Amino acid sequence: MATINPTTSNLAEFAGKRALVTGGSRGIGAAIVRQLLDAGASVLTTARSADAKAPDGAAFVQADVRTGTEALAADAQRILGGVDLLVHNAGGARPHSGALAIPDDEWRDALDLNLLAAVRLDALLAPAMRDRGSGAIVHISSAALRPPVPPFLHYVAAKTALEAYSKGLAAELAPAGIRVNAVSPGRTTTPGGVATRDQWTALAPAVGGDVPNVPLGRDGEPDDIANAVLFLLSDQASWLTGSTLVVDGGEFTR
Ligand code: NDP
Repeated sequence: MATINPTTSNLAEFAGKRALVTGGSRGIGAAIVRQLLDAGASVLTTARSADAKAPDGAAFVQADVRTGTEALAADAQRILGGVDLLVHNAGGARPHSGALAIPDDEWRDALDLNLLAAVRLDALLAPAMRDRGSGAIVHISSAALRPPVPPFLHYVAAKTALEAYSKGLAAELAPAGIRVNAVSPGRTTTPGGVATRDQWTALAPAVGGDVPNVPLGRDGEPDDIANAVLFLLSDQASWLTGSTLVVDGGEFTR
């Protein structure tokens, strides 16, 4: 397995910053939490499972972002005293057997988890950032929308909307000094990512489309994605807003 070095350009870059990262108990979210802690931030993270744990040094509250954004925003205020850096990482895909056969409740679930949780949390937390005149938000999308990966179309539709929303929100919040960007990961070695890839491989022939190779020769590691997120949160990206950084080893760029 490749060794991916976390970003170490400025270890104190986030000292004094308060960060909320959703879905930080494992995978990409946990790597983002660890890198933010290493760079000096105070971090609160969340997951659904009662037995989920945050990386050492981070505060943790159990919450389902599909239904619990108001309580989560209140927890962030109580525990951190406010949020300067907001990363919408919780998300995931469930396979379907055909685009026309996705039940309504699965559409709603995909939209709640991968789009509306972020929309609702931004609406709760960005006004205070606007009052302070600063803040940075990163939405985690998916490279699977370039082109849409067949067995996960509700997920892909939600992530496509998330990128469009992210860009529009960036324009609205730029005058207030808040930057909003997205990171679009390719297949990354996490519990969720491995399960999705296995389902994709099994279902691709039936629903059309193949599973492409990664031109750079390996799947991503969580720190590959976290490196991009920390860059976008940092002052090194101070003239970047409304962008989507695709981090996929070249998979969807061919
Ligand atoms: P994992 O499934 O490995 O981890 C997801 C994390 O989010 C866990 O901490 C999980 O904890 C939490 N979570 C899931 N659902 C909820 C919920 N409803 N409320 C609160 N927390 C939740 O996922 P990855 O690390 O692979 O993915 C992270 C993000 O990256 C997702 O948005 C995903 O769509 C995106 N992505 C990942 C790719 C990959 O290949 N890994 C590729 C493209 C995009 P718990 O289960 O306890 O709730």
